[in-house]
Amino acid sequence: QQFDALVAELTAPGAPFALNEVAIDGVSYRNYAELPANLGEYFRHMLNHGDKEFAVYLDQRYTFAETYARSAAFATALKEKLGVAKGERVAILSRNNPQWMMSFIGTLASGVVAVPMNAWWTTEELDYGLRDSGAKVVIADRQRIERLAPLVDSLGLTLIAIDDCSDLPVAALAFDDLLAEYAGAAMPAVEVDCDDHATIMYTSGSTGHPKGALSSHRGILSALYSWMLMGVVSKQVDIEATAGEPRQPCGLLTIPLFHCTGSHSAFLLSLVAGRKLVIMHKWDVQEALRLIEEEKVTWFNGVPTMSAELQEAARTSDRDLSTLKDIFSGGAARPPDQVGKLASTFSKSTPGSGYGLTETNALGAVNSGAFYIANPGSTGRAVPAVTEFRITGPGGEALPVGERGEVCMKSPANVLGYWNKPEATAEAFRDGWFHTGDVGYMDEEGFLYIVDRIKEIIIRGGENISCLEVEAAIYSHPAVAEAAVFGLPDERLGEVVGAALLLHEGHSLDEAALREYLAGHLASFKVPAHIWFRDEQLPRIATGKIFKRQLKADYASALAHQ
Ligand code: AMP
Repeated sequence: QQFDALVAELTAPGAPFALNEVAIDGVSYRNYAELPANLGEYFRHMLNHGDKEFAVYLDQRYTFAETYARSAAFATALKEKLGVAKGERVAILSRNNPQWMMSFIGTLASGVVAVPMNAWWTTEELDYGLRDSGAKVVIADRQRIERLAPLVDSLGLTLIAIDDCSDLPVAALAFDDLLAEYAGAAMPAVEVDCDDHATIMYTSGSTGHPKGALSSHRGILSALYSWMLMGVVSKQVDIEATAGEPRQPCGLLTIPLFHCTGSHSAFLLSLVAGRKLVIMHKWDVQEALRLIEEEKVTWFNGVPTMSAELQEAARTSDRDLSTLKDIFSGGAARPPDQVGKLASTFSKSTPGSGYGLTETNALGAVNSGAFYIANPGSTGRAVPAVTEFRITGPGGEALPVGERGEVCMKSPANVLGYWNKPEATAEAFRDGWFHTGDVGYMDEEGFLYIVDRIKEIIIRGGENISCLEVEAAIYSHPAVAEAAVFGLPDERLGEVVGAALLLHEGHSLDEAALREYLAGHLASFKVPAHIWFRDEQLPRIATGKIFKRQLKADYASALAHQ
């Protein structure tokens, strides 16, 4: 019934798209026949929820209408004051806050390409990302402006400061002044096609620098509509009647907005669902419990580390957490035993998990509810109607049920490729399939299991880290002769970074000095948690390559026995 109500609302006269019914494998799903032409049209859904609260952050509270109006003022300033044209890139670099969201909405609605950047990046990493994307305008908060300051002249940047502008190390326009100057302006009318570029989101693959995954408007809209029609939103639109009043769904935003799980499934999906978002300043489990109680949070989505902490803390908390209905996780494997614990601690809520990548706009497989409790080791089934998975062998051949191989995904939500990287694009996107670099298998009922990774990445609390990027930073130290970086298991974060190295003869370097050196080159989450100095060459396989699997196994067992 709720789903039907949603469908009625979405297809009402004047709604920007239509739904129809499709049958796949004998099961009927409602699929979209037409997407809105672009994200700008999608954002108009916010006006349906006008006076409801949308963004809550520290002492700031904005309704949907206020957020839309501010986004429109920002879009107008971008166009009229800064002369940013359709297709140009604008970077957003800040911790999560409502201004991040307004910048993202305004940028996308203007047909300008939004480039969300990792808020932990160092000056060196930002230099790479800004050169690669070609973004000249950057919306940033104070902490990030300090890191950008050395780049302003060499890259010719225009900075827009989200926070108070006094005492900044470089000149910046104030976000609030721009909004005041263009207050009341309508969202600019720009012709944007579904296949025009919308976002570049950086993701670490197995090769050195992060790659910019380039999505069209269609890619993001496809992900949003797939989740909606799957019922993710229908469950949240009218989650529970309280004294005759439908309770507004409310999500706790814990994931960085520069990840597509944060920006798409948490933030953008809320715009159509009328879901309020309570934005955490930074992750802190006690603060999360307070906000859940005070703001009556219904939906939680975090990396598995966060939901594990939430479950642990909730067991001994006397806060009222009964409004929580959905406890989702994604971005990394969730230890299967966490699912049962969540189900028993939060007996009135549904645990769920999603599998997807930046390259798939976070869409992919979903496992939730009773299915999930019975199959906690699985990442779930493909999102119906639009997503297909195929497991392939070394020659690219499709493998039968039960056999392990590379997980490939076909979906309209897949990004177009990597920005400025035709070779990497051709390698990962072949014959309409995106090759994920994850190893998995499918069971007879269509459940996908992720068991390993082909690509050399470490996933630390949901953050992807390229082993080669960390190795390159270690090798840049003159004392280092050999280095290998690998993931080590960690109870809290899933994995952490480990490094083994050999120094050149006659050189000395200790752990603290190496860490300090690396902190100047790499965001802190990439700096190895465990470092081993060896006095002999690192082990090799026959081809001469360092035998990382051996190192990883040896050090994982050394850690386990500590
Ligand atoms: P990102 O592009 O940062 O979203 O990272 C995508 C990678 O995270 C995938 O290639 C997987 O290795 C991993 N991942 C994401 N979700 C899951 C999940 N539910 N289970 C296991 N691994 C996951």
